[in-house]
Amino acid sequence: MYKILNHRLHYQNDQVEYFLTPNRTKNFVLKPEGIILHDTAGRLDGNTSVNWFMNPSAKASAHLIIHRDGKVTQLAPFNTKTWHAGRSNLNGRPGVNSFSIGIEIVNPGKLTTLGNGRYRSWFGETYKDSEFLISEKTTPEHGSGGWMNYTEEQLLAIESISIALFDQYNLKWVWPHWKVSPGRKKDTNPLFPLENIQSKLMGRNEDTNNTVTLLANTNQRRWPSYNDNIIQVIPKGEEVELIRSGWFQNDADTAEWYLVSYNNHEGWIFATLAYLN
Ligand SMILES: [Zn+2]
Repeated sequence: MYKILNHRLHYQNDQVEYFLTPNRTKNFVLKPEGIILHDTAGRLDGNTSVNWFMNPSAKASAHLIIHRDGKVTQLAPFNTKTWHAGRSNLNGRPGVNSFSIGIEIVNPGKLTTLGNGRYRSWFGETYKDSEFLISEKTTPEHGSGGWMNYTEEQLLAIESISIALFDQYNLKWVWPHWKVSPGRKKDTNPLFPLENIQSKLMGRNEDTNNTVTLLANTNQRRWPSYNDNIIQVIPKGEEVELIRSGWFQNDADTAEWYLVSYNNHEGWIFATLAYLN
């Protein structure tokens, strides 16, 4: 598993590949509050992105690069301000580099459809969807285009590294670049399983000190969905510890889930079945 020692990422007991980028703000101690996820929008060989971020003329960097095979390169300690988000704001607060950790995922970015299952990147490389799982998708944030799936190795690395970072720095949120630079940036791409990773991370460090009382016999579930995932039934009238709130299944604010603890099991209940004390 990943852990952090002296602001450096380690896997088991070994430090991951580490270089110190010149593209960082000196005499600034970063106190990270969350994570911004990016696509490299570059070649699939992640070393080309590592080399770019090590080049002073790039004037860009990030803390981590996640390669296609799940390998991780660190480019600055986590208490160093790197230059990944550019002009940005989170809920009206500008300059997101000053309070976030930047993670770059190796991915070519938006692709142009050539037909016959072929796609071209902005830097001229051609990819076949039979080889790279490319889908066409349109969203308000991304517009339309072809998008390459992230690898399973990348997603697993991001999840376990994010958990280590959340625990080490008491982080509160993870967002893609498009969230903090809307209109200007499209990364991460629409195939990124954002809700999945947010449901595992956001709220993790919120100290609610709240309890909820169950209004009915309620299924407690491993996952905030109605799939076959019931842990136990919590009886009507029980008062249970609320660990996290504010997780919504979709944009409808009626679909909130609570993470609660009962009988030493953590799991999810549908919020309308509980009364917030
Ligand atoms: Zn970005």
